[in-house]
Amino acid sequence: MCFNYKNDVLFAEDVNIKDIAQKIGTPFYCYSDKKLNGNYQAYKNALAEFNNTICYSVKANPNLGVLSALARLGSGADVVSAGEMYVALKAGIPADKIVFSGVGKTRAELREAIKNQILQINAESAAEVETINRTALELGLKANVALRVNPDVDARTHVKITTGKKDNKFGVNWDEALNLYRAASKMEGIRICGIAVHIGSQLLDLEPFRFAFTKIAQMVCALESEGITIKNIDLGGGLGINYNVELPPTCAAYARVVQETLGKLNKHIIIEPGRSVVGNAGILVSEVIYTKNMGEKKFIIIDAGMNDLIRPAMYDAWHTIMPVNKKRVAPVIADIVGPICESSDVFAKDRIIEPLAQGDLVAVMSAGAYGASMSSIYNFRPLVPEVMVRGREFFVVRERINYENMLREHHVPSWL
Ligand SMILES: *Cc1c(COP(=O)(O)O)cnc(C)c1O
Repeated sequence: MCFNYKNDVLFAEDVNIKDIAQKIGTPFYCYSDKKLNGNYQAYKNALAEFNNTICYSVKANPNLGVLSALARLGSGADVVSAGEMYVALKAGIPADKIVFSGVGKTRAELREAIKNQILQINAESAAEVETINRTALELGLKANVALRVNPDVDARTHVKITTGKKDNKFGVNWDEALNLYRAASKMEGIRICGIAVHIGSQLLDLEPFRFAFTKIAQMVCALESEGITIKNIDLGGGLGINYNVELPPTCAAYARVVQETLGKLNKHIIIEPGRSVVGNAGILVSEVIYTKNMGEKKFIIIDAGMNDLIRPAMYDAWHTIMPVNKKRVAPVIADIVGPICESSDVFAKDRIIEPLAQGDLVAVMSAGAYGASMSSIYNFRPLVPEVMVRGREFFVVRERINYENMLREHHVPSWL
């Protein structure tokens, strides 16, 4: 384990969390390089029998340090904007390992992707396919295109992160996919190279994957019987992680499902994991500002807010919260809340936790994915720093943003 107590003090690998807090203040995100490595390697080992590319989903955590560490391991990237493509390339991820997903890619973004000759653009509609074709022809290039199909499967996860049902906005309708492939295969600016699917996030059950991959296998056979060759099968991301009591499937079990459903086709397998690579490799460290009692109820007010980690407010997510200094005394029941002026700024309700006092540090666990990447400056609070730990070393991979920089793009109208 990479976040562990030593003499009742929480460490990230071999670095005392209190030492980081003392140096850079709170709140901050802290990532373990070792955990990141381990999570990536688990996928790599599980998929060893396939020709494969792991395209880490950048939106889970686009920090340049995190991406650079993954680039060093050989990871590709799944990007959903030109901004993510930019940072992935900056981190040293080669264009031919980048896939571009998303329902609303703009023409400017597509132009970037085509110019960079990325591995694959996962198109999600007929209108997008036509736009890709036109853009490629303008550039005198061919675009590598896959269709992201919607297999109409219930991923059995939170409604806000379900993406593979036919009433979601994502992908090409199953019944229309074949026709769109036929049309696209005749377009001069398009090189059909694959098929893609992504059915949701935080999946704890392999059956929706099995269902979707089985349908993909059938689609690939149908396409190839018409002479449309599929080189890459992109299975998306979505494998869940443990936040509380969940038991997510292992990478090996996931790979068995890939083998059973798609193994015979002998294709290049792409996967786009995000959460399962960075989620449990990161924590959010925060300091208790105040405690207060309101009648029977206890509140612990910490200096991190929903602007720093929105998952509890947005997805009703559970995050384990650990005291950085274990006191070994009887626990209390309290709400752990942030300072933001919103009632939804609650990290934990009625949580059983050791009593905490002003100045104590807490760690919000499994905050590496969709934490910093979804943070905002709501309440004009600076984005918090991010730190990477490796063994005994730590490194600030993003500084705390200061007020001056926060105001840099603001301008008072000239008429004032
Ligand atoms: C968000 C997303 C992913 C990553 O999902 P995780 O649940 O973080 O693994 C992969 N592919 C696409 C297209 C996505 O939108």
